[in-house]
Amino acid sequence: MSQPADQPSEGVEAFRARILDKLKYATGKDITSACPHDWFEATALAARDHIIDRWEDAALQIDRSEEKRVYYLSLEFLIGRLLVDNLSNLGLLDTARAALHDLGVDFEEIRELEPDAALGNGGLGRLAACFMESMATLGVAAHGYGIRYEHGLFRQVLIDGWQHEHTETWLEFGNPWEFERSEVSYTVGFGGSVMSTGDNGNSRQVWLPNDTVRAIAYDTPIIGWRRHSVNTLRLWRSRAERYLQLERFNAGDHLGAVAEAVKADSISRVLYPADVTEAGQELRLRQEYFFVSASLQDLLGRHLSHYPLERLPDMVAIQLNDTHPAIAVAELMRLLVDEHDVEWAEAWRLTVATLSYTNHTLLPEALESWPVSLMERLLPRHMQIIYLINAEHIDALRARDIHDFGLLRAVSLIEEDQGRRVRMGNLAFLGSHSINGVSALHTDLMRQTVFRELHGLYPERINNKTNGVTFRRWLYQANPALTGLLVERLGESVLDAPEQRLRDLEAWAEKSGFRKQFMAMRQGNKAALARLVKEWLGINLDTRAIFDVQVKRIHEYKRQLLNLLHCVALYQAIRNDPTVDWVPRVKIFAGKAAASYYQAKLIIKLANDIARTINNDPTLRGQLKVVFLPNYNVSLAEIIIPAADLSEQISTAGMEASGTSNMKFALNAALTIGTLDGANVEMSEQIGREHMFIFGMTADEVNLRRHAGELDMSGLIAGSERLREALEAIRGGVFSPDEPHRYAALIQGLQHQDTFMVCADFDAYWAAQLQVEEYWRQPDRWWRSAILNCARAGWFSSDRTIREYAADIWKVSPSLPPEQG
Ligand SMILES: *Cc1c(COP(=O)(O)O)cnc(C)c1O
Repeated sequence: MSQPADQPSEGVEAFRARILDKLKYATGKDITSACPHDWFEATALAARDHIIDRWEDAALQIDRSEEKRVYYLSLEFLIGRLLVDNLSNLGLLDTARAALHDLGVDFEEIRELEPDAALGNGGLGRLAACFMESMATLGVAAHGYGIRYEHGLFRQVLIDGWQHEHTETWLEFGNPWEFERSEVSYTVGFGGSVMSTGDNGNSRQVWLPNDTVRAIAYDTPIIGWRRHSVNTLRLWRSRAERYLQLERFNAGDHLGAVAEAVKADSISRVLYPADVTEAGQELRLRQEYFFVSASLQDLLGRHLSHYPLERLPDMVAIQLNDTHPAIAVAELMRLLVDEHDVEWAEAWRLTVATLSYTNHTLLPEALESWPVSLMERLLPRHMQIIYLINAEHIDALRARDIHDFGLLRAVSLIEEDQGRRVRMGNLAFLGSHSINGVSALHTDLMRQTVFRELHGLYPERINNKTNGVTFRRWLYQANPALTGLLVERLGESVLDAPEQRLRDLEAWAEKSGFRKQFMAMRQGNKAALARLVKEWLGINLDTRAIFDVQVKRIHEYKRQLLNLLHCVALYQAIRNDPTVDWVPRVKIFAGKAAASYYQAKLIIKLANDIARTINNDPTLRGQLKVVFLPNYNVSLAEIIIPAADLSEQISTAGMEASGTSNMKFALNAALTIGTLDGANVEMSEQIGREHMFIFGMTADEVNLRRHAGELDMSGLIAGSERLREALEAIRGGVFSPDEPHRYAALIQGLQHQDTFMVCADFDAYWAAQLQVEEYWRQPDRWWRSAILNCARAGWFSSDRTIREYAADIWKVSPSLPPEQG
């Protein structure tokens, strides 16, 4: 696209006039009557005008150029706010700020009024959002497909330290970024029966659903850096075919008349917590099929308006983000065979060549499977198709002289052991030409564990695509102070090609003047976070202390408990030895627990109990503070991460598929304390192990210990006084005097059944934390490492990840070379 890269497309005066125009004609207000939210809306709509112009250009261009299209199917898109992201990618951020200033409006105030689009749980959903932005930046013609949840992830409220879930109402005041496309809608069926028609040998199957809903499209434009390209995120909302059954209503049954509508609406009502074990709800399966069917109907229609079906794999690549859209394998087969009369074998060839699948977890309890009985009732035709795929698959193996019963059982689509269930991971694997993991270690483990047998049969399918994050949001937007420093020293070009240019920072790491500037930048970010903590929690933080941060979903494998044990041990050490000159520390936690995950909620309560006790103990003289910030989301992450000195990435080795916040922290120049897990391994290779604090058991060691059944830590605890005393304090009610036994069972578990190796890694963790303090006492050393972390984080850009997907899986060439701009 031809527009010169860095000229703002509109001057301050014109933009101001545009805002006033929106204020008047879109919100119906004038300067005197406008409230701050009206200003937010008018500004967003003014920005949107610019996006729409580019959107149409981009669509035309893609049609003309006959580019292959990428479709990213994801049940989650954790987008966050869009105002600053969009203005910044449009090159209009300063313009908007100045225009509003002229109007007497504070930009910083109105940006805070935008609700977070929290249509995701955590890393998986945020990855989808980063990918959408990178695809637009690189000029990959892509559509994201998902669900427009009326209520995204719950809002976390802490009452007396316990998590409560409140409904998120992000759409309450409308959403200026989306366009309802009432004319784009599809019917999605459920239930009913399958009829065989036609004569012998030439029969066809006709599915007669007894329950249908409509999927209505809502489009959000996604604009790339420097307005390069604009893609579409299309989210589906469910609606009843008939809103009101008038005859029932007139007969006096006012509730019954809308019952069908209420049921249909419920499909796009709420986002399920992904990490709840046993998401066995029928509604979840309905959601998955609903968005997959609408998306496939939509993309097939688009394809067929230009090309014949046999060219599907040449013109279309469909990426399945985890197994949530895995039913796409059966649905694409159904559409091709039943609706478009494609012969079965040809349909299978087209399906496998078009689909690819990203695996995100090895945790057995998180691998999706659906009871056969539920599938038969809800999706009878799909169940037939799955049986047929399975039979052909097993036949093909027998034809290859594979008869090992154990092997055949392992690769079957049907799990026979615990009631008959359909294994969605195996379905996604068989129906895809590419199966990727999200870090080198995770991909390796995938080959050895979940897909061991399938990998043996299809050794060319599994490949690795290490995750990345978009630097536009996680550096330019989240950390303007650091971005300013980079531009000042490295020039504007660092913004267009950070993967290459950030390296030039290495030389600056050696200059003490620059290190001081860098420290001052961090100090400013810490002060901003301290203000927020003061405002929200009333706690004063010393910004000279180490800001030691663990923010992410609360999960046993992520080991917030290990960090909490360190808090307690440190607390006891400081109390026991007040004369020692301790390095002051602030421990910062944030994260949500799945509503039904009791243990995770108890960990949140423990963090809050420990925080209260420590923060109110005068003998500590401020040397240690602990804070738990409520309602972790993208916007909070954007404030916390740039203020972190130390990034906690301490999952049990082998259990975190990749992690992406580890990358965000390194990019923002925090030092990592972490295990050799997920992408931490590749971070240690890129950044240098000497600039991180790596500790603990490796994935192999964890595995050996598990297999040996060595999960009772009593002996180990007896040998570690520090660990023993920390556990005792928690067990004995030091932090829960109101209910002394609150944590007895939790501690009992750590002692006798330490599945996540919390005790087993404690001493190594403590030692690594001592090393952190030693480093911190040598500012030249610390800040040199910090700068090198940022300088060497370039590889973790999601632009790099997307280029790899494009080249290896999708076979599309991004229309823009990375350095353009
Ligand atoms: C990046 C991000 C995550 C993922 O964090 P991990 O530490 O990789 O699990 C989760 N939630 C939000 C809001 C994020 O921005």
